[in-house]
Amino acid sequence: MTLRVAVTGAGGRMGRTVAQAVLSDANAALVSVCARQSSDLVGKSVASALGIDIPDLRVGGTLDLSNVDVVIDFTLPESSLAYAQQCAAAGVPIVMGTTGFTDEQRAMLETSLGAVASCRAANFSTGVNLAYRLLELSAKVLGDADIEIHEAHHKHKIDAPSGTALAMGDAIAQTMGADLSQVARYDRASNREPGTIGFSVTRAGDIVGEHTVLFASEGERLEITHKASSRSAFATGALRAAHFIADKPANSYTMADVLGLS
Ligand code: NAD
Repeated sequence: MTLRVAVTGAGGRMGRTVAQAVLSDANAALVSVCARQSSDLVGKSVASALGIDIPDLRVGGTLDLSNVDVVIDFTLPESSLAYAQQCAAAGVPIVMGTTGFTDEQRAMLETSLGAVASCRAANFSTGVNLAYRLLELSAKVLGDADIEIHEAHHKHKIDAPSGTALAMGDAIAQTMGADLSQVARYDRASNREPGTIGFSVTRAGDIVGEHTVLFASEGERLEITHKASSRSAFATGALRAAHFIADKPANSYTMADVLGLS
């Protein structure tokens, strides 16, 4: 059955990439595309706005959910929250890749999404989701090592450290029976304390996304690195999640569920 997909954030880097991924999927159809209301793209044909070959579809200023099986959203926390509420009210499943939510926004999101099938991930790439498992295993064996997480992204990224770096830290902290908020260190102005997880960040150029976790012990170091070279890695994963949740009962699914890693 063809999956009918709505894509938000048409003017954004991920919105465009997701739209392309949907068009390249023989089992999916791009049926609705929207951008923020003030965007120049609103009202334009999707073909001209996104430079993709698709007739008879215009960019909307609001999310049109008629005849949609699933929404894929990579925008901003405020707009994602509004789209989640709209999907919940209409009973339409949503895949959400937006990062940078405050604790308050996250709580509101979780309340809204309780009513539908959803999949949220700070990183939809297959490699990163596999890396979470490798990190849990490493933390189990090397929990007393000094652990540092470094991430690098393009200069336009708003939130820091990345949602992926925080999710990696969370996977390690949970394995060690710790709370990330207690063990995370975001600056190096003081000496290293045992049991802490250090974070460092690079924002430069057009780096798509790189994460390295270092486990350093006396005499040896283990580094687990993931490098995304194209946004299509995230878009493909999000689309895979969309196929997975489209006919599932209301629940919050993870990429581990989608990839059979849970
Ligand atoms: P971007 O700045 O290129 O795009 C953001 C989009 O949001 C734009 O299209 C913008 O018009 C839209 N937008 C802004 N305000 C809006 C509003 N009020 N209503 C509707 N739309 C609005 O950013 P990007 O690089 O495409 O990233 C988008 C989000 O996805 C970020 O939070 C980023 O961290 C996240 N991201 C997640 C993954 C993942 O795998 N989970 C991968 C890459 C990016």
